[in-house]
Amino acid sequence: MQPLLNVDSALAKILADMKTLPAETVSLPEAHNRVIAEDIVSPIDLPPFHNSAMDGYAIHYEDSVDADPANPVTLSVAMDILAGSAPAARLEPGQAARIMTGAPVPAGATAVIPVEDTDDDWSKDENSPLPASARLHRPLAPGENIRRAGENIAAGATVMAAGAVIGPAEIGMLAGIGCRRVDVIRQPKVAILSSGDELVDIYDDLTPGKIRDTNGYTLAGLIRQAGGIPIRLPIAKDTLDSIRALYRRALEINPDLLISTAGVSVGAADLVKGVMNELGDIDFWRINMRPGKPLAYGTIQGLPFFGLPGNPVSTMVTFEVLVKPALAKIAGRPFKQQTVKAIAAGALKSDGRRSYNRVILSQENGRIMAGTTGIQSSGALMSMVKADGLAIIPEGTTDVPPGSELDVILLRELDW
Ligand code: AMP
Ligand code: MG
Repeated sequence: MQPLLNVDSALAKILADMKTLPAETVSLPEAHNRVIAEDIVSPIDLPPFHNSAMDGYAIHYEDSVDADPANPVTLSVAMDILAGSAPAARLEPGQAARIMTGAPVPAGATAVIPVEDTDDDWSKDENSPLPASARLHRPLAPGENIRRAGENIAAGATVMAAGAVIGPAEIGMLAGIGCRRVDVIRQPKVAILSSGDELVDIYDDLTPGKIRDTNGYTLAGLIRQAGGIPIRLPIAKDTLDSIRALYRRALEINPDLLISTAGVSVGAADLVKGVMNELGDIDFWRINMRPGKPLAYGTIQGLPFFGLPGNPVSTMVTFEVLVKPALAKIAGRPFKQQTVKAIAAGALKSDGRRSYNRVILSQENGRIMAGTTGIQSSGALMSMVKADGLAIIPEGTTDVPPGSELDVILLRELDW
């Protein structure tokens, strides 16, 4: 028997093989959640003009220095500037311009006094007429309540650098600078193939001896979460012909990654590895991890391929540990496995392989506690439904006493 391969060595080898996809151009609305392929430099100042941060009066700040509530300063109101309009004239000393939030500050004005700090209250009147004068109750500092042109971003500055993900704030900034189309890394197409004579799809009857294909669905979800496009193929039977035909079909789709599940173990019907070897260049690995020991990895006609173990939890855990980082590299996505330190709430067991135990996390006296989800069978997918994370029991450890500190891979955002 081949010795067990260390998880980190397996991952390093996989990552070294993965190549990031080229860019494609998409319209801005389509760019959300995509990875930008180019540095984006702002062609304009944002905001494009000095504008008011408040509803109030734009003034020469020097006119306000003697103002206090007992001795308000009175200025004549020379103009009315609404958001969206462009002031026609310069503001002279001694004058005030009524101005709304976001409206351009007229030339000459150096501060804006909020309406609350004057005698006015426009909210009482829907079409409040422009007053002839304004009474200021306090002095203003130069620049007060003025948002300067370019203070958000200056022309020539970088809005976002290549390799970053376009989130809601980024897409808003790209809209702000008038970006209509952007170059993003193409999303990886991932072909998924389930195999096994026992498998039926959700639309088929569950006749004796059959179970439903769950891996096809969990993998599609995991791939979407990782920014890929899953393409599910029909279920392969445990015959060489069926497996071969479906692998050929998978290749015709021209995917960027191919993932099959089951058939890579040592059972009598584990034919996948034979077909893989026939069509491509496959390594069979026995990895020092639990769940997920048997795994096939390699390339078929240049296409990277994973033959994941069939047990539903093994499929998910091997995806999390080995495929997700690989997919991130293909997708050009920044990736760091999110882990937290947690305290084992009860005793945990392993067989000495690096184990990924499904745990529920909770908070107790400022510490994060990890409690088992219960049955840890690699067939019990409910353990993944319940799990907040995967507690890593290092290789060589068989017994983890309560109170031990463990690294836990986060599988979801914690709601506490
Ligand atoms: P195998 O690798 O073919 O020996 O399968 C290992 C275990 O995983 C068996 O109990 C299979 O029935 C189960 N299994 C394999 N593929 C799937 C699948 N797509 N969905 C659910 N269970 C599966
Ligand atoms: Mg099987």
